[in-house]
Amino acid sequence: MQDEFLNGASRADSSFLEELPLQRAWVEVDLDAIVHNVHQLRQHIHPTTDLMAVVKADAYGHGAVTVAQAAISAGATWLGVATVTEGIELRRAGITVPILLLGATNSPDEVLAIAYWKIQPTLSSPQQATRFSQALMSSSLQAAELLPVHLILDTGMSRLGVSWKDAVAFVEHVQNLPHLQVASVYSHLATADDPDLTTMKRQQSRYEDAIAQLRAQDLCPARLHLANSAATLVGKGFDGIDLQYDMARVGLALYGLYPAPHLADRISLKPVLRVNARISQVRWLEAGTGISYGHRFVAERPMKVAVAGVGYADGIPRNLSNKLEVLIQGRRVRQLGSITMDQIMLDVTEIEDIEPGDRVVLLGQSGDETITADDWAEMLGTISWEILCGFKHRLPRVARVRESDPVIHKPVIPLQIAQRPE
Ligand SMILES: *Cc1c(COP(=O)(O)O)cnc(C)c1O
Repeated sequence: MQDEFLNGASRADSSFLEELPLQRAWVEVDLDAIVHNVHQLRQHIHPTTDLMAVVKADAYGHGAVTVAQAAISAGATWLGVATVTEGIELRRAGITVPILLLGATNSPDEVLAIAYWKIQPTLSSPQQATRFSQALMSSSLQAAELLPVHLILDTGMSRLGVSWKDAVAFVEHVQNLPHLQVASVYSHLATADDPDLTTMKRQQSRYEDAIAQLRAQDLCPARLHLANSAATLVGKGFDGIDLQYDMARVGLALYGLYPAPHLADRISLKPVLRVNARISQVRWLEAGTGISYGHRFVAERPMKVAVAGVGYADGIPRNLSNKLEVLIQGRRVRQLGSITMDQIMLDVTEIEDIEPGDRVVLLGQSGDETITADDWAEMLGTISWEILCGFKHRLPRVARVRESDPVIHKPVIPLQIAQRPE
């Protein structure tokens, strides 16, 4: 079928196919903005503190490999992922910096994959540490090397970890197991984005307490870390606290968003992601005409309506129906009626020169106007983290970068489509 189509199109080569993924809807990733954000963060954190770029969940939807490469080129020295396969994807792309696996892992197969790909796991219980050691012992992998492991203490997040009170016993247990080497002891904050610092300070003092106990027993590892984006922005002597320690684990801020409004004056971040679609049809509808499923919008006057090829199957939340605004030629345009699986309708009555193929910006900047993930999060009663992670893989990720920038080339996801089947 495909061969016939190509022959029928009588094109000498199939390179035009590379442009096809940009015909309907796509996500643009601004790698200059990643570099900018890393530079801003680097200036804000202590010179001796490592910056970990947290690229879990496909770099919060931005494309893990490309984001990781850009972040490393700008000064990030560690990467954070949530799953073993996320780590392997980075290694397969040739990335060699240390990778910390923030999520839990238990099965022997996962342990062997972690060791093989030189990923550094988080250990959250003595039982898990024992399982790791046993899996390594019974494997034929090179046993001479120690696997660096990172122990997580629960200081108040109540997610992964051993109680901070049991830090000494935990570290002793792991140190006595063959094949494992304690590379860090860390914890995770539950309320770092809250302007009220009380709970965060309590978590930090529990962490400090555990460290003091470890030091007293000469068990303290070389690396300590506590901060996510919010704590990194709060803490370098501001508010009388410093949360940066030996490494800052930064996710959200890397992507140009602030964890909370009160932290927005700390450094200047640029949003990285732009979500685009194209107009597929434009026509006039009479007053009184119902629009989209359920006729949840009825034209109150004659309206010029455009259809854009993007919908909830691309990650545009259906709960934004009749509330969403998009940008066309730098102007705000309202979306009409129910958001459908693959298409949305827009009120373009006020826009004179508009035709199929024109670009619509759903999230990001167009002219002087910007719509942010925070705007969507507010309308939906959620957080910007969830908005960023919500765009589906049906939307190709395409890098936007200065011509001169040698870091990376587009597209973010390699387009296999350009290769004609034999
Ligand atoms: C996801 C995650 C982070 C990054 O959080 P942001 O708020 O996005 O900066 C840091 N540490 C751990 C343990 C995480 O799971």
